[in-house]
Amino acid sequence: MRSTVSIEPGHMGHGRYPEAVTLEDFGRNLADVQARIEAACARVGRDPATVRLLPVSKTYPEARLRLAHAAGCRMLGENKVQEAYLKWHAMQDLGELQWSIVGHLQTNKAGRVARFATEFQALDSLRVAAALDRHLQAWGRGLDVYVQVNTSGEPSKFGLTPEDVEAFVKQLPAFSSLRVRGLMTLALFSSEADRVRQCFVRLRTLRDVLRQVAPIGVQFDGLSMGMSGDFEVAIEEGATVVRIGQAIFGARPLPDSHYWPGEPSSKESQP
Ligand SMILES: *Cc1c(COP(=O)(O)O)cnc(C)c1O
Repeated sequence: MRSTVSIEPGHMGHGRYPEAVTLEDFGRNLADVQARIEAACARVGRDPATVRLLPVSKTYPEARLRLAHAAGCRMLGENKVQEAYLKWHAMQDLGELQWSIVGHLQTNKAGRVARFATEFQALDSLRVAAALDRHLQAWGRGLDVYVQVNTSGEPSKFGLTPEDVEAFVKQLPAFSSLRVRGLMTLALFSSEADRVRQCFVRLRTLRDVLRQVAPIGVQFDGLSMGMSGDFEVAIEEGATVVRIGQAIFGARPLPDSHYWPGEPSSKESQP
């Protein structure tokens, strides 16, 4: 499948998206993103209701998150547990606001996530699954989870290799408080649309295989893929969740290497 959608590497958002500072800015940005989601769906004959927009609020201050909430956001994604926890704590007065952790989790932070998150999108180890389950049981809570897959083959990215996912998923029913929803990936950061698209195709193909072999109680419909720079391509390839920060909140001032610790600052195939 090919389209004329332009694609930009995730770290190229600077300057492209002005900072959202008013309620109107958030309203407009959310409407723009929603319109782009609908246009991408229309190109491939999908119902836009099958694509969930997850606004990603990492690095933005509480005041901006409150504006996003006022503009209608009811779930926010964060990639660092401590930052998310502090924001959750500070915004309890808002009532309905749920949190999705989209970044790598260390076992020793699992207790925090179990306390307040509704969703965790970066599951890639049984140790973390076990730790989450133990803490969730203690709190009497459940958690929606996505298994993170490294579809780009870049050593700097977290996630299971595609070959390891099936065996991993088969173990998950042992952790009864985890509700497995599907797979998540970060595509290659590249301006070459075809190579980015291949990452999304790989995740969808894997999901289709897993659907057939998934253990009872494990559901494999979800495909969390696509960010500000590539979400339209991801939707064309079947994304059911798109995780979008900069197109809603505005460009982050620092390069992505700052927010994804462990990633080299100069990425492959810069334009
Ligand atoms: C930051 C982040 C996003 C959103 O990226 P944007 O370029 O701001 O849209 C999506 N997924 C993950 C895992 C992230 O850390």
